[in-house]
Formats: sequence, C-alpha cells, structure tokens
Amino acid sequence: MPVTIFEAALYKAHAERQLYGVNAAVAISGTEVLGIGLDDARTPYDSRSAIINLIQNHFPLRNDFVAASARPSERCLGMAQMQGIHTIAFAENGLRLMTLNGSAWGEHPGAYLPGARRLQLPPVGGFLEAPDSSRRIRASQWFDRMAITHPAAAQADAGTRRFLESSAAAAPSRRFNTPRLEMPGGLAMPATVQPDSVWRDDLFMRLAFALLGLSFSTDRFRDYAGGHNIGCVLRGPGDELLGWGLNSGATHSTLHGEVNLIQNYHRRHHGVAFPQRCRLYTTLEPCHMCGGMLSEAGEEMDVRYGQADPGIIGNALVRNHHGSSQAPQHTITGINLSDGHDEAGGPITAFLASDTAYDEVTGAIDRYFTAEPQDADDRVVWANGMALLRYVNPIVDTLHGMARRH
Ligand SMILES: [Zn+2]
Repeated sequence: MPVTIFEAALYKAHAERQLYGVNAAVAISGTEVLGIGLDDARTPYDSRSAIINLIQNHFPLRNDFVAASARPSERCLGMAQMQGIHTIAFAENGLRLMTLNGSAWGEHPGAYLPGARRLQLPPVGGFLEAPDSSRRIRASQWFDRMAITHPAAAQADAGTRRFLESSAAAAPSRRFNTPRLEMPGGLAMPATVQPDSVWRDDLFMRLAFALLGLSFSTDRFRDYAGGHNIGCVLRGPGDELLGWGLNSGATHSTLHGEVNLIQNYHRRHHGVAFPQRCRLYTTLEPCHMCGGMLSEAGEEMDVRYGQADPGIIGNALVRNHHGSSQAPQHTITGINLSDGHDEAGGPITAFLASDTAYDEVTGAIDRYFTAEPQDADDRVVWANGMALLRYVNPIVDTLHGMARRH
C-alpha cells in the first residue's frame, strides 16, 4: 500500500521541523505544494505559529489540505476555519485529522501507515549540521532516505512522488508582514484604575466606534485601509490605551481589526502576552479567527463587543479557552446597530457596509465628545482616546471644536 499524499505531507512538515528546529506546516492541493510555513513565535502568546504564517503568506488557500508537525491550537483552527481550510493533519500516536463540521472542529484518527501504529520517521542524520545553502538539497535526500528506510514510501504512487519532488524545492515562509499600526505619542497613565467604572467601559466602547467613524474619512493608512467596518481598542490593566486595530480585510482576508491589533501589539512588545486584566473592546463580536487569537494572546482575556454577529457560533471566547470570555457591552449609550441589522437581515458584514450603519458609526464620533468627563482622572482616559483619534485622523479636533460650539 503506497504512502498517501497526506502522509507524505506530514513527513514533509516533520522534515522541515527537523531542519529548522521549529514547527512547520505544509499546504497541498492535489499533488501540488502551495506553501510551507515555519513557526516564528517568540512566546507561547505570539500568534506567529506555523499554520498562521502559512495561511497569511500563502493567502488565499481555500479547500486545501494542511499537514502540521504539531497539534493545531485554537488560533490556528480559527484562522483555518475563517479562511476556508477545513482539514488539518498532524501526528500524535499515528496520523490524526482535524476536520470542520458545521462550525465546530472534530478530531479523529486518520489512515495509519501500514504496519505501524506510530508515525516513525527515518533519522535525519547530519542535516542539522549542514550549512543553510545545502539544507534544501538535503531535505530532498531525506525523502530519498525515507524511501529506503521506510518501505511504504518506496511504494509511493506517482502523485506522491511528484509531491515529494516539488516540496523539496519549496521555500518555507516565516512571519507575514502585517501593516504597521503605531501608538500615538503623549499617552498618560490615569491616577486610578477603575475596572468597574461603567463610564470607563462605555468610553472605551465609544472610542472603538469613533475610531471606526474617523477612519472613513482619512487616507492616512493607504496600505492599510479597506475592509469590513470594524474597529477595536485594547484597554490595559491601568486603564491605559495599549493598542488599536481596524479591519483591513479587503487587502488580505486574515486582517480583521483584532488580528491587526494583536499582531501589532506583539510586534511592538516582542511577542509577550497581553497583560493580565486587560480588556478588548471591539465594535463587532469576534469571529472564530479573532476569538481563537485573542484567547491565546494572554490569560483570561476579557472581550467586550458592541454588536452581536449571528453568523458566528461558539468561538473560543464563548468556550472560555485559556479562561477567556466575551460579553456584549450593553452600557453603550446611543449607538445601536442591532435594530438596523434586524431590519436589513443578511450577513452582518453586508449590513456594516450600508448607509444605515455608516450614519450610525459616523455619529459615534460625536458620542465620544459628549462623553467628555468632568473629573481630572477620567479626563486622562478621555484624552488618551482623543490622542488616538487625532493620530488616526487629525480632523477630529475640528469636529470636536464644532461640537463644542453647538
Ligand atoms: Zn475576526
């Protein structure tokens, strides 16, 4: 019985792991190698896993098969799910398959290699001592050796052999170049932390909406702008502002607002975990990709959303992965997308592109102004938000001046 393409892809993922010393993932379609991703995460909280690097660098992959050298995490599964990849294989006491059924992943044993309960790879020998330039050649030699030491591989059919040959020439990829989002200067720490303050919760959610409203009328982020109308901000454990993001999915479908926020936070902070007791505010309920990535960006991630997404059922936050949670932000005053969406029906992303949603979100800029605080400490929190809005679109000061005159 010949080695299947799936098993060969798994061997390939393990060969890359041996060669580079980090986990690897391989995407195949038919007998063609579409791409190879290497793990580039600096900490367990850094999103740059092999599968995520594979998907982000080789976008779009759809209905393709991925083999990985390690069990996929929630963020890997979430991104695969949202990007249309529904089968992932890995080895753990034999070949295991993760497959998507509806909106939930199921796991089951794959076809075992004939005569072997465990996946047994031939020894890699001296490959790791080889200079980088010759490693690619040696990877193909490793496959040749596999054919000798592993009888099943010698019986590989023509498709598998084509895969082995083409995969030996494919260069692996590391982190994808996420569009850069920096933090504005002049941010301050408020003197008091008030995690239970309704006003502060409300203010951060208004900020996420105002950020989105202001993004409609700027071309400041030319290589960034475009996508579904979704914004988010990260509130630190000291009630400071730690990050922000806007959806730029029109240019790359993995770049949801939360992904942009997370990958930029990790870039600025060298992949360290989000601080304990931070809170993320997003205008739309996180999808499976963002939910998985948020739940693994720190411990006990606390996510608040302005608008429910009926199309997303059971993301990682709902399942409390890593102690995470999500909740609708009911305290938000005056911003209501739900009624309009109920009336319009259809996917939430289509509604977010409508004039109704546009008007509601643009109106949120004024609602940030009207939340203006009276006490000095809340004013610091408010001013941090204004600094972000100004950074995204300087027109905010003109708008604020006009609002004050009325
Ligand atoms: Zn998302």
